[in-house]
Amino acid sequence: MGESKSRQKLEDLMKILVCPICKTRLLLEDEKIVCTKCGRRYPILEGDIPDLLPESGVLPEDAESAQ
Ligand SMILES: [Zn+2]
Repeated sequence: MGESKSRQKLEDLMKILVCPICKTRLLLEDEKIVCTKCGRRYPILEGDIPDLLPESGVLPEDAESAQ
C-alpha cells in the first residue's frame, strides 16, 4: 500500500514538530528523528509515527556511556 505516502506525511509533520526538550527543529533521518540542537534521537514507530516523548529521546552521550 502507500508506504511512501506515510513517509511523505511524516516529512510534512517534521515541518511543525519540535524537540520536546529544547523546542528546536528536528531532522528526519532514515529510522530516527534527530534534534538539531541537543542531538537527542527519537524513534519512529511503525506506520511512520514519530515518538517524541521526552523519555524516548536518547542523547548520543547516553548511548556511549551506557556500559
Ligand atoms: Zn532537543
